[in-house]
Amino acid sequence: MNQVPVQKACPKSAKLPVLFIGHGSPMNAIENNSFTESWSKLGQEMPKPSAILSISAHWETKGTHITVAQKPQTIHDFGGFPKALFEVEYSAQGCPELAYEIKNIIESENISLVENWGLDHGTWSILNHLYPAADVPVIQLSLDYYKTPRQHVELAKELALLRRKGVLIIGSGNIVHNLRMIAWDKMNEPEYGYDWAIEANNKVKSIIESGDFDLLCDYKSLGPEMNLAIPSPDHFLPLLYILALKEENEEVEFFNDQLILGSLSMLSMKLG
Ligand code: ZN
Repeated sequence: MNQVPVQKACPKSAKLPVLFIGHGSPMNAIENNSFTESWSKLGQEMPKPSAILSISAHWETKGTHITVAQKPQTIHDFGGFPKALFEVEYSAQGCPELAYEIKNIIESENISLVENWGLDHGTWSILNHLYPAADVPVIQLSLDYYKTPRQHVELAKELALLRRKGVLIIGSGNIVHNLRMIAWDKMNEPEYGYDWAIEANNKVKSIIESGDFDLLCDYKSLGPEMNLAIPSPDHFLPLLYILALKEENEEVEFFNDQLILGSLSMLSMKLG
């Protein structure tokens, strides 16, 4: 896939917001709860995009990849869940033209166009509520696990013009995400959060409110609670992509600010 057509896929549009969504359990794809109600409401309230670019915690690669399939497969990248979850097919079209355009836009690296990845659950579990009709084309951009947080931020900034081309950019992860420390003994208190998890969640939130996002690139140096909250960068990095796209004077609107199962945070935000 080295041939990159030169046509421009996306005409100019009014500026779209950007979203960071804490996706939590894959079961959210088929459940109706307070989190998914927020997602549905957002989908109804926002101007409808012409395409979606999703940056999901669940696609890490060597180098940056972008999906180019016309009909992306629904990837069931989890185990031990009910059959109903494996039966979900999110049937949105891809948008190869947008993938080509992004490849042209990103000058700092030669990103790879890939046919063999579709939509992972970080993407479709959310979109099943945001756009249940699956009538907006979707592509995914991977997380290069060789990049530093600051390199991810630099790459994200190159995507900024897409906001004015009808593209809704979504980062999908979780700010606090430590599956090894899930409080299985607190299953009867689903909104339980460990002290360190609450502390880390609040710290990230207040840094975002302060506007000094660069601090978050050094999250490991921000305290022991941050190391517990972010044992690996995959679920945190999509947040950095979204913050990098914030324009001056844009409001950050938080929602789903809730700890679950001790060691997960659903904190989400809409910018612009
Ligand atoms: Zn996840």
